Amino acid sequence: MQAGKRQDSLHRFLFEQQPVRGELVHLDASWQAALERCDYPAPVRSLLGEAMAAAVLMASTLKFEGRMTLQIQGDGPVSLLVVQCDSDLVLRGTAKFREDIPTDSGFHELLGEGGHMAITIDSVGSSERYQGLVPLEGESIATCLEDYFARSEQLPTRLWLAADGEVAAGLLLQVVPEQGAEDDDTWNRATTLADTVTGDELCRLPVRDLLHRLYHEESLRLFEAHTVAFRCSCSREKTADVLRRLGRGEVDDILEEQGRIEVGCEFCGRKYRYDQVDAEDLFTDPAQSQSSTRRH
Ligand SMILES: [Zn+2]
Repeated sequence: MQAGKRQDSLHRFLFEQQPVRGELVHLDASWQAALERCDYPAPVRSLLGEAMAAAVLMASTLKFEGRMTLQIQGDGPVSLLVVQCDSDLVLRGTAKFREDIPTDSGFHELLGEGGHMAITIDSVGSSERYQGLVPLEGESIATCLEDYFARSEQLPTRLWLAADGEVAAGLLLQVVPEQGAEDDDTWNRATTLADTVTGDELCRLPVRDLLHRLYHEESLRLFEAHTVAFRCSCSREKTADVLRRLGRGEVDDILEEQGRIEVGCEFCGRKYRYDQVDAEDLFTDPAQSQSSTRRH
C-alpha cells in the first residue's frame, strides 16, 4: 500500500452554505478482521462488505446511542446477513450462505426476491426497540437503504457502496433538513457527480482526493475523521447464559454425547468450550454455594 493510505475511518463533510451533507467510510483492517473468520465466495464477500460500510454510514447518520443492526433475510443462496454497528462505530458482521454460489451472482440471485431488510436500533437505557423493515425491492443494498430513508426519515438520501477482498467503502449524501429553502440544484449536482464514482475510486482514493475528484468546484468543509473498529462483543458470560437458557437436561445430553460443549461466535469465530465441570458451575446458584469459587 502507498504512503498516506486511508485507515478504518469515517469522514463527515458539508457543502458550505448549501443544505447537503456527506459521509465517507473506509474499512480495511476491520474489514480484514471480518473476513478472517470465513472464506466467503466473492459475491457474498461484496455483499457483506457493502453492508458493513453501509452500517457505519447509517450508525453515524441516524441519531441514537446504542447499537444498530442491519439484517437481511433472503430466500436465495444467502439466507442471512447481519451487521451490527454501535454508536461509537464498533462494528461486526457475518453472513450465512450455501456453498455453491456462482461467482457472477447478482443481488437478487444471492438474496432471492421475497426477502426483507430490517434496521433495528437498541438504545442504551431504553427497553424499547425501534425496527424499520424494507422489502428487498431495490437492486442493491444501497437502493434498499435509500428506500428505507425515504420511508422512515423522509430525507432525500443516496448511498454508494463498494467492497473487494481488501477494502469496503461507502459514500452517503443527505439533504440537511430545516435549512430554509430547498436547494434541489445542489442536491442534483452532488448526486449526479457521485454517480460517476467507481468502486475502485471509492475503495482506493484518499478522502481528500476523492472529494476533490467529485466536488472541486464546490466549497466543502471536511471534518476530523472518526475511527472505526472491528470488535466483537461476545464473551464467556454471554455463552454461559445461552447454555443456562438451554437448560440442564439439554446440556447434560450434549455432554454425554460429545464429551464437551463448544459454543462458537458467528461474528468473530471465537470458540467457548465447556466440559462436565464447567457445566456443573453453570447450574450452581452462586448464592447457595459460596464455596463454588472455581474460576477459569
Ligand atoms: Zn465474537
